[in-house]
Amino acid sequence: MRPSLEHPDPTYTRLVEHYSSFITVPSEKLKFLRTTLSKYPNSPLADRVAWLKQLTFRKAILEELVQVLPADSPKPREVALIYWLYRVRYPVFLTSTLTIAMVALVLGQWLYQNARQTGIFSLRLESGEIIPKIVVVPSPVPVSTDKSSNSNTASNSDPIEGFALEDVWLVEKTAEFEQYSNGARILTKYEVETEPRNFFALSRKAPKEKIPLPFDAQQAIFYPEEKTKPVGILYHVTQSDLLPFEPTYNSRLKGKSSHLIEYVKEEKLYNYVIDRFGQIHRVVKDDHYANHSGNSIWADEKAVYVRLNHSFIGVAFEGNWSSNIKLNPDDINEAQIYSCKLLTQILRNKYKIKATNCITHGQVSINPSDYLIGFHLDWAIGFPYTSCGLRDNYNELPPSITEFGFKYDRGFQNSIGGKLWPGIELAEARLKARAKDSEMTLEELRKQLNKDFTLYLNWINKMRDLRKANSGNSEEETDKEKPLKLFGD
Ligand SMILES: [Zn+2]
Repeated sequence: MRPSLEHPDPTYTRLVEHYSSFITVPSEKLKFLRTTLSKYPNSPLADRVAWLKQLTFRKAILEELVQVLPADSPKPREVALIYWLYRVRYPVFLTSTLTIAMVALVLGQWLYQNARQTGIFSLRLESGEIIPKIVVVPSPVPVSTDKSSNSNTASNSDPIEGFALEDVWLVEKTAEFEQYSNGARILTKYEVETEPRNFFALSRKAPKEKIPLPFDAQQAIFYPEEKTKPVGILYHVTQSDLLPFEPTYNSRLKGKSSHLIEYVKEEKLYNYVIDRFGQIHRVVKDDHYANHSGNSIWADEKAVYVRLNHSFIGVAFEGNWSSNIKLNPDDINEAQIYSCKLLTQILRNKYKIKATNCITHGQVSINPSDYLIGFHLDWAIGFPYTSCGLRDNYNELPPSITEFGFKYDRGFQNSIGGKLWPGIELAEARLKARAKDSEMTLEELRKQLNKDFTLYLNWINKMRDLRKANSGNSEEETDKEKPLKLFGD
C-alpha cells in the first residue's frame, strides 16, 4: 500500500469526496475516505489520457465504495447502476469476450473466403514477380478402358452452352449389368454379337494421296474413307402393342418387354432397348452393327454417312410412335426419357459423339427408289431432344436433301402432322440457291444429285458384299425394322 495522500490528483480527491456523500454512517464515511485516498491509482498512461484517467479513478473509488455500502441499502441511481455493473462485471466480461471472439471469427472467415475467391492464395512471389497459378481443367474421362478410343478428343468438345458433356465412367461390371457414374445401369443379359463395325464415311475433304473415285459422280463429290468407330446415335421407337401403364399390369408389362427384347435379340435389330420401366438393355454389342436403319443418310461437317447400321448406334424406346406422341405414361414415359439422357451421356462420352449426330430414324430414313425422305417415320417428329440432354436437331438440315436432292411427299407431310421441321425448309432453300449458283434448274440439280447418290449407294453395297464374302459371314445385314407408313402413297 502506498503512503497516504501522497501527491493525490485534485480530480481524484474531488471524486472521492463526491462518492463519500452516499455513505450515511460517519465512521464508515471516514474509513472510506482514508482507504480510498490511500489507494490513489498512479498510472503514467492514465495521466496523459483524460477519459482513461476518469475511468481509472472511478474504478478505484467504486471498488472501495461497494465494500462499504451494504447490499440492501438504498442507493442513488448513479451508484445503483454502477454498483450493479460492478457486481455483474465477470459475466459481462465473459459474454463480451465471447461475443467479440465470435464476431472476429465470422469476420475472419468472410475475409478468407473473399481473398480465396479473388485468388490471393494462388499468387506466389518468385524473384519479385507475381505469377498467377495455372488452373488445369481435367478432360472428360472416357468410359472405355480401351486406350485407343481416347485418341479422337477434338470432336468431343461441344461449344453449345448447357450441352457440355459431363464425365461419365464405368463404376462396376458384373455378368448381369454395367453400373455407370451417372446413375445408369445397363442390363447385359440379352447381349449378342453380329460383326464389328466397318463402313465408308464419304469424306468432304480429299485424302492426301489422290485415289481415283471408283465412279463418276457429277455434283456430289465425296471421298470414301474406311472407319470402324460409331459416329452417331440413331433413336427409334419399337412400334409395339402397348398395355396400360398401371401396377395391375406389372407382370404382363414385364412379359411384353422380355418378348420384345427376345425378338430384338433374334433379329439383331438395335444396340439398345429402353423398356417401359426405363430399364436400359444392351442387345447388340456397341462395337457391332445392328439391323436398325437400312437406307438412310446423315452428315456432319466432316463427312456424309450412307446406310447407318455400321456408323450409328441404334437406341430404341419400347413404345408406339405417332405424330402426336406425348410424354405420358401410356405413350413415352419419363423414366424412358431419363434413361435416354443417361445412355446418351455414356455413349457420347465413350465414342466422342457430336450432339448433331444424335438424330432420329424418321429424320434420316430414305427410299432410294423414288428419292423420297421418311420411309421410316419413328420419331420423325416429337423426339424430346432437350430432355435427352441434346439440342433440338429438328433444326438441322437433312443432308438427304442438301447433298443428294431428295424430296418429301404429301404423305410424309401428313404423317408428321402437316408441319415440316425447320431444317427441311432451310435445306430446300439451300438446294435452290445451289441450283442458281450452278446455273441449273432445281429439277436438273436434283436429278443429277439423285443419280450421284445411286452411284455411291451401289458402291457402298458392293463393298459390303465383298467384305461379307471375305469374312465368310452369311448373315444378311439389312433393315429389319418394319416400316411405318401412316399415309400410303
Ligand atoms: Zn426406327
